[in-house]
Amino acid sequence: MKTDILLRKAPPDLPSALRQIVDYRKSGLSLNHIVGCPLDCGYCVRHLFANFEMKKPHLVLDDDAAVRELVEHWAFRKDITPIQLLNRATDPFLPGVKDHLIRTLEILDGKGLRNPVLVITRWRVEPDDIQRLERLSNIKLTILVTWSGIDDTRLEPVESSIAEASLHTLRATASRTKAILYWRPLIAGINDTDAHLARARDLSEQASATVFSGLFHREEIRSYLRSVGFEDAYPEVARRKILPRDLEARILTAFGGRPLFRKTSCGIAFAHRSADYNGHFGLKDVCDICPGAQVERCATAHARPTPERVHELARECGLSLDHIGVDDRRIEVKNSTEQQRYFIQHALNYQVHDAVLPHFPRRHGRAEIGWS
Ligand code: SF4
Repeated sequence: MKTDILLRKAPPDLPSALRQIVDYRKSGLSLNHIVGCPLDCGYCVRHLFANFEMKKPHLVLDDDAAVRELVEHWAFRKDITPIQLLNRATDPFLPGVKDHLIRTLEILDGKGLRNPVLVITRWRVEPDDIQRLERLSNIKLTILVTWSGIDDTRLEPVESSIAEASLHTLRATASRTKAILYWRPLIAGINDTDAHLARARDLSEQASATVFSGLFHREEIRSYLRSVGFEDAYPEVARRKILPRDLEARILTAFGGRPLFRKTSCGIAFAHRSADYNGHFGLKDVCDICPGAQVERCATAHARPTPERVHELARECGLSLDHIGVDDRRIEVKNSTEQQRYFIQHALNYQVHDAVLPHFPRRHGRAEIGWS
């Protein structure tokens, strides 16, 4: 199906956070040169950018200029830095957006870059799309298909059957392009019945790996959900995603040993038979559900960096050298930004934590709610 739809240009009053088309997130350096989405998921992070009302996708910058901005970003490293495309303010497989997605992938691939590239969608992935994606020969591409099984349209108006069809299509036609069942957001009391868990387990057969995660319950998202009459899913808001301990235990039981991951980059590592680029292996407790062969891959790659190398990278990203500690699990820093931490983490494949944002054992970087 040809979907050559011209996007309108982004308006001049676009919030400045959205004009900045490259930013660094945990799963990679993220390129977002298109903003706007009609899908209306109630828990969308666009609430945090005051962009939820922009229902039509708009082009902020053309694909060639956008790729230039990405690869010239100070943190970008050829073949190393993980890249995320169009994951902040639109869905990359929407009609019109998809042409830009595939063109952007082709430009990156044409530069001979072998970086991991993540594309997250809940929309239709068609056989024609996959045919083009399969022609890429350098980048390591993963399509993460978001599926939740939620049928409350205030939370999620998009039918889960669309994501299911995309996973089936990927299964039937993709080979070098890896597909992940991105099972999220799991919300206690909403989409966690035994039937939901069994459905996810069956669907996981269509993907190379399954990654599960909880709900971002930020103030902006909660107040939107209240405005559409949705009763608070949790009693509090939180900076990190919420996934209560009991729910995680039920998920693990339901999956009965099938490949299942708490962390996005771990699912990607397993799908591509490589070590986790975020170095979660250092935390150990993240790995207790990971297949043995994958644990070995990460164990082989896990190497404690020298203080000299950490200092070198800290200098490159402008981080103070005064409070840097390195142990067998992770690097600890102080007064850091996310960009600085992720830059060092991806350069070394070793976890980097700021002392003021501690990670608690066995909670896997999640909010406290449901774990105390
Ligand atoms: S071994 Fe640990 S770090 Fe490596 S992919 Fe598995 S869970 Fe992730």
